Parts: sequence; C-alpha cells; structure tokens
Amino acid sequence: MAEGARILLLGGTAEARALSHRLSKTARLTVSLAGAVAAPAEVGGDLRVGGFGGADGLAKWLGAEGVRAVVDATHPFAARISANAAEAARRTGCPLVHLRRAAWTEPEGADWCHVADLAAAAAALPQGARGFLATGRGSLPAFASRRDCDLFLRVIDPVEMPPHIAPVVARPPFDMAAEIALFQRLGITHLVTKNAGGRGAYAKVEAAAMLGLPVIMVSRPPPPENVPVVARIEDVLAWLHTI
Ligand code: NAP
Repeated sequence: MAEGARILLLGGTAEARALSHRLSKTARLTVSLAGAVAAPAEVGGDLRVGGFGGADGLAKWLGAEGVRAVVDATHPFAARISANAAEAARRTGCPLVHLRRAAWTEPEGADWCHVADLAAAAAALPQGARGFLATGRGSLPAFASRRDCDLFLRVIDPVEMPPHIAPVVARPPFDMAAEIALFQRLGITHLVTKNAGGRGAYAKVEAAAMLGLPVIMVSRPPPPENVPVVARIEDVLAWLHTI
C-alpha cells in the first residue's frame, strides 16, 4: 500500500493503541473507538468516537472517506463491530485484516471451568461465592439475578450496580502482585473472566493460579469468516505491504 494512504483502525484495545503509534508515522490514520470509556488513552493519528450505524453506515463511511484499508484491532469479544467490518469490507471491496491476540490456554494444575457465554458463567458460580468479575460493565445484566453471591465487577468508569455487586473502579494494566492483594482483600473465592488473551490482561489469571482460585473462563466468539486473521502487530504491518 502506498505511503500516506488512508487507513481506518478499529480500536479499543492496547494492541490498537500500540499499532496506532506505528501506523500514524506512514499512513493517514483514523482510529475509531466505540465511546465506551469516558477518557480514552491517547492514540496516534486522528481519533473518531462512536458507532458508524451498522455495516451499512460503516460501508458508506469507508467510501466517503476514501479509506484504502481497514484494520480491525477490536477486542476478541467485540463480535458485532467485527462482523460489521467484515460485511462493510465485502460490500466495498476495501481490504480488511483482523488483529486477534492468541487465546489463553489452561496451565497445568489450574482449575478452569470453560463456559460458552456470560449466562453460563453466572450459572457456574456456586451459591455464596465471592466472585471477581473481570468481564466488563456490559456483563452486569448477566449477573443481576445472582443475589445469593457477593460479586465485585471491575469497571473503568463508575456505574450504578445492584446491592450484591460492588464496583471495583480501576484502569488497566494491572500487575500480578496488585491482583493478588486485591483478591485477598476482597476475600475472592472465584475469578470470572473472558478469554481475552494477551499479556496485559493475564495478571488476574496468574493471581488466581497463585491463590489456587477456580477460574470461570468464558470462551471467545468465533472471528468473522473470510477475513484474514493475524496475531501480532508486525503481521498487520506485513499485511499492509501485500495490498
Ligand atoms: P460490539 O458489541 O462488537 O459493538 C457494538 C457496537 O458498538 C457496534 O455495532 C458499533 O456500533 C460500536 N462499536 C464497537 N467498536 C467500535 C469501534 N472501535 N469504533 C466505532 N464503533 C464501534 O462491541 P463491544 O463488545 O460493546 O465493545 C465496544 C468496544 O470496546 C470495542 O471497540 C472493543 O474493542 C472494546 N472492548 C471490548 C471488550 C469486550 O469485552 N467486549 C473489552 C475491552 C475493550 P455501530 O453498529 O453503530 O457502528
């Protein structure tokens, strides 16, 4: 791809942020965020915030802005925007690559219960559990009925929660020692997490292993079909040279 060409980077992850600083040196880059976080971390390139209006809206935006390539570096659980990007790319013929970090695999001796979704994660918590929910603010409704548990939901911005769910307001990244101290202070008996993958979010899983805590691990949705998937920032840069 020619230097200075227009690229849309769909973000909301640490990788997208890191990639934005690399790409903004050689491309006309727009980084797009959903607007889920009140004060997002700084990115390279121009920032736009908010939805496009589905695949339709995104396809129109790509055409109107003369975008030459789309990099989907959204979170592996952000299935809707990835599906929209795939559909918009198909309709417009705009090249698209999906940056998706490798999933975590269960270390030997760990106590992981694999579940398909958040509803199954909520159902997997035993009565009376003190569960640490690292599943994001969007997961609140899934745990709303578990009033027989004491739950702690980590969020970046404060959100109103039912009495059995306490907010833990904090911004990543987190280190293992701090996660261990937090779980001990809260008397956590179970960790509930999505299988986000990557090093940055792994400290809580390591902390749970160190404390011998069971982990309820929500499996990832599949990536969209017919879109090339790469695992590393360098692979995205290499892909851009092929189009
Ligand atoms: P989602 O369910 O896949 O997307 C919901 C809607 O939000 C999309 O249809 C789109 O609206 C808009 N949207 C999502 N990402 C966008 C982006 N980067 N730029 C512009 N619009 C975007 O996504 P989600 O799970 O709510 O996650 C929202 C954002 O948070 C994502 O960008 C993701 O990378 C980040 N994130 C998600 C998680 C997670 O666990 N899901 C964790 C960490 C970070 P329109 O249809 O109107 O275009």
